[in-house]
Amino acid sequence: MIAPVLPTYARAKLSFERGEGVRVFTPEGEAYLDFGAGVAVTSCGHSHPHLIKALTEQANRIWHTSNIYQMPGQEKLAKRLVDATFADTVFFTNSGAEALECSIKMARKYHAAHGHPEKFRLITFEGAFHGRTLATIAAGGQMKYIEGFGPKVDGFDQVVFGDLEAVKAAITDATAGILIEPVQGEGGVRPVPHEFLRALRALCDEHGILLVLDEVQCGVGRTGKLFAHEWAGITPDIMAIAKGIGGGFPLGACLATEKAAIGMTAGSHGSTFGGNPLATAVGNAVLDVVTAPGFLESVQQRALVLKQKLAALKDAHPAIIDDIRGFGLMMGIKCKVPNTELQAAAVDQHLLTIGAGDNVVRLLPPLIVTDADIAEAVDKLDRACKALEAKAAA
Ligand SMILES: *Cc1c(COP(=O)(O)O)cnc(C)c1O
Repeated sequence: MIAPVLPTYARAKLSFERGEGVRVFTPEGEAYLDFGAGVAVTSCGHSHPHLIKALTEQANRIWHTSNIYQMPGQEKLAKRLVDATFADTVFFTNSGAEALECSIKMARKYHAAHGHPEKFRLITFEGAFHGRTLATIAAGGQMKYIEGFGPKVDGFDQVVFGDLEAVKAAITDATAGILIEPVQGEGGVRPVPHEFLRALRALCDEHGILLVLDEVQCGVGRTGKLFAHEWAGITPDIMAIAKGIGGGFPLGACLATEKAAIGMTAGSHGSTFGGNPLATAVGNAVLDVVTAPGFLESVQQRALVLKQKLAALKDAHPAIIDDIRGFGLMMGIKCKVPNTELQAAAVDQHLLTIGAGDNVVRLLPPLIVTDADIAEAVDKLDRACKALEAKAAA
């Protein structure tokens, strides 16, 4: 008999009823160190007092009005995102996939508005993940997500990750732009080299096409800058964000330059819930935390500590760990054993991690993680590796 909840998830036999900072607690009161943060969602940790205050104060005033009316909280959040980034304008959504949908539609509409509706194709990369809607599974290009759901949405041309010649060869008169995650998350924590991002920016300028970034996972402070592309010294034309911006409240956004947004006139796009008062109250509170003086510098320092400790962990367990990748607080452990085994061994030590493609275990702690939390997490990973080694020797 089918479960009351549609069985699309392979769920761990664990549940949590309370969270505090970097820790979550089972109904029995057992603590787990949360180095998954949802999946890079609880950027400010669990039960952050400033976020609780923002949400409950808003809940006591008004929950929902509709995008039919003026939305002061939404306008404030948009203005702050515009001031902090390349963008001139923002559309709010409830999820990452919807932020991508808006980005994809905008890139197509840009060329249509310039009299070129035939330019609707986006170049994407192997290993990409952009969400689970019909368009975003086509953009991600992974057969396991596409098969069985009818004709694949047309308009995405996938090339090998990091292959600039392949990108050049894929650009045609029908190309609207290039869509890429600056750090692939689900694909296995694969950072795009900065020079590659710069080369994509130059290619887009040369061909009059748009650079569309998916920072749903790597954005909002995760890499130690507000957005990951800042490290490469480039700016996109359009960018999708979500996950960390809501700190656990469902919130996403599509940010764009005025030039890229030219086709998105009144009535061209919309959302019932997108950017509602509760969501944007929390979004504003998350920005208060992440853009506070010194916060991102502190993320960079914590990231360095994590990276050094993981390098030592790799040296100590050469039979388990193949490689350490990623940067900021978005790290991946490429495993020699199945990644699920290391994850399970970590759960035995009360450490939560996230799996990823390419046999990687992802570490995505809340951005408020401390050096002591990092030491504790790597200690747990060390014990998890030792347990796997002991099992292999037995
Ligand atoms: C999670 C994710 C998405 C999809 O976000 P949803 O909120 O699940 O729709 C898109 N792109 C990237 C890079 C992601 O990590």
